[in-house]
Amino acid sequence: MKKFSPATICVQGGWTPKKGEPRVLPIIQSTTFKYDTSEQMAQLFDLEAEGYFYTRLQNPTNDAVAAKIAALEGGVAAMLTSSGQAANFYAIFNICQAGDHFVSTSSIYGGTYNLFSVTMKKLGIEVTFVDQDADDATILAAFRPNTKLLFGETIANPGCSVLDIERMARIAHSQGVPLIVDNTLATPINCRPFEWGCDIVTHSTTKYMDGHATAVGGAIVDSGNFDWEAHHDRFACLTEPDASYHGLVYTQRFGKMAYITKATSQVMRDLGSIQSPQNAFLLNIGLETLHLRMQRHCSNAQRVAEYLQANERVAWVHYCGLPGDKYYELGQKYLPNGSCGVISFGLKGGRDVAIRFMDNLRMAAIVTHVADARTSVLHPASHTHRQLSDEQLREAGVDPDLIRLSVGIEDVDDIIADLQQAMEA
Ligand SMILES: *Cc1c(COP(=O)(O)O)cnc(C)c1O
Repeated sequence: MKKFSPATICVQGGWTPKKGEPRVLPIIQSTTFKYDTSEQMAQLFDLEAEGYFYTRLQNPTNDAVAAKIAALEGGVAAMLTSSGQAANFYAIFNICQAGDHFVSTSSIYGGTYNLFSVTMKKLGIEVTFVDQDADDATILAAFRPNTKLLFGETIANPGCSVLDIERMARIAHSQGVPLIVDNTLATPINCRPFEWGCDIVTHSTTKYMDGHATAVGGAIVDSGNFDWEAHHDRFACLTEPDASYHGLVYTQRFGKMAYITKATSQVMRDLGSIQSPQNAFLLNIGLETLHLRMQRHCSNAQRVAEYLQANERVAWVHYCGLPGDKYYELGQKYLPNGSCGVISFGLKGGRDVAIRFMDNLRMAAIVTHVADARTSVLHPASHTHRQLSDEQLREAGVDPDLIRLSVGIEDVDDIIADLQQAMEA
């Protein structure tokens, strides 16, 4: 059968009802599933048979939505998590343990930065941050014998830098480790990192995928492409017997599905940050229009970015759709159909002017959110990145005067009029 295009997968993927079944993906709001014999259930516990038995491990609603996201990214399988934070944590913890190390680009989401630099350190997992625009040699110098992966964001939130995915994949693979990319802001509509050599993709589905600010959630998608056995000793967690499954070896039993099966059957089993089936249902409704909304977010944001760039009150604008932007060329390569609705910019006069401008907006709301249908603004230095020092802020690509504008899908003229009146006020 012909492979469907992303727009069709958005609408039709994941759930294919059989005769007499509901047209719409049902919410299976059940923690447990019934079996006829004790033996049937025992086989499920040993991963010898496939089937549902407890929603912390798997749930049919979640699986349908995960399948849709996997198809959108072109991966072999996906797992939903309760949040984007859980997705990034599990994606790394699945192959890292105390004593291990990983490399991450420094321009990443503030919550992820804290997770990596503070919380994972407490677990004995160390990170080295690198400037994603540094040359190969500088990035390679961050790798150690115990390095397990390289991490970056397709479009950094909120710095709006664009990751050179192909180059990062080459660097990671030269060190025998996978590249994990957080593809939240680009979404698989605008970029599919697996096509550029990335091995594992993560998402905060809270953002564009849900798109309506109704449900916090996350996802991990496995390309199935990384050859764990080629680096047998480095990834013993996948290539050696797992004591918590009577000595099962993930790579032997599950092949291309080794990584994602371990994430579900071990990490999720033990840590339990599942997405609720109710939230997965809401996420699925969001996904059904993702392709339409992304187009509108991008065309609106392009117009707004051009308006800001031409405005004399504006000190600077970062949006990779603007010719002359530092990331314009990478944007054209990886995001030819548009990047996303997020623009970062600074006003002349700095931090105080930024705060007054935001307070004067009438339609665009100040919310700790990004990437939903409604236009919103945030001042990262005062909000999401509040815990970071000025030095860490700069490392994360966040200027103290940076305003993060998340352009919605309203009429673009109304958005520009609101920005205009707030600047004049
Ligand atoms: C929001 C966000 C996260 C965290 O996701 P939550 O769903 O809020 O836990 C991670 N990465 C990126 C790029 C984000 O924008």
